[in-house]
Amino acid sequence: MAALPTYDDVIAAAQRLAGHAHRTPVMTSRIADQECGASVFFKCENFQRTGSFKFRGAFNALSQFDARQRVAGVVAFSSGNHAQAIALSARILDIPATIVMPHDSPAPKLAASREYGAEVLIYDRYSEDREAIGARLARERGMTLIPPYDHPHVVAGQGTAAMEMLEETGPLDALFAPLGGGGLLSGTALAAGALSPGTRIFGVEPEAGNDGQRSLRSGAIVHIDTPTTIADGVQTQHLGVIPFEILRQRVTDVMTVTDAELIECMKFFASRMKIFVEPTGCLGLAAARDYARTHPGQRIGVVISGGNADFAHLLKQA
Ligand SMILES: *Cc1c(COP(=O)(O)O)cnc(C)c1O
Repeated sequence: MAALPTYDDVIAAAQRLAGHAHRTPVMTSRIADQECGASVFFKCENFQRTGSFKFRGAFNALSQFDARQRVAGVVAFSSGNHAQAIALSARILDIPATIVMPHDSPAPKLAASREYGAEVLIYDRYSEDREAIGARLARERGMTLIPPYDHPHVVAGQGTAAMEMLEETGPLDALFAPLGGGGLLSGTALAAGALSPGTRIFGVEPEAGNDGQRSLRSGAIVHIDTPTTIADGVQTQHLGVIPFEILRQRVTDVMTVTDAELIECMKFFASRMKIFVEPTGCLGLAAARDYARTHPGQRIGVVISGGNADFAHLLKQA
């Protein structure tokens, strides 16, 4: 395993990202505060370039390629947001990119990666092993594989979102972030550990895919089948090794929420705060609401992780 990233790596990532990533707003809502009985701060990564925090980790990783890696290019496999993040970062840094994506990815996510100039290869999420496909491309073409979460540079980059948030809010009592493979949550934990060491850190998963909760509670990484959930950004089968090592030291617990709760939160964000948040991006608020009921009056941070979705598909379901 590569050396675990530290808060110093998050600081270095923030310097690489300066002038390339947006410093996204931290929003508050009186209605959210009233409904939760708490002070809630939302870090709005739905406004990040490519529509999710994934740009942070991708750009941080690609900007550390050496000359040979820059020429041979990058390969990534992703259900969507990591793909767009790699594609845009590669374009900015003038690195060729190949993205391996599942056949059922939301149409706008497929289109966006192509629009950013990446080559897109499609595979069947339920019958093929994406990691083997990605590794073969890396071997045959000499490209560097950048995984969506199990990489120290990716983790450090993702940590810059919580770093910015805590710089603005000051210390928080609790912080909630979605949990897929654990890149976002482990980076968040590094930032919070340095900037607000008393903060209780919670990961949030869909009920259908609670492998992270089981992993942290049992002390070993649990593997599951691809979960069926509206939260397509966290349809991961297991935590990354690097994130897991950080999470087991720093995370208080992992909570789960239902798809119905995610839809309620999407409606809340759209109708009350006038922002569009993708289902996965709603995980933090869905769990924070429950937590606030038993912890009144706290200062709570919520990472809104992204705002990309297939609108035509979503509206049909609504
Ligand atoms: C990737 C992603 C997540 C999960 O992040 P991990 O680093 O895999 O835990 C959450 N929300 C959105 C919108 C994502 O794109």
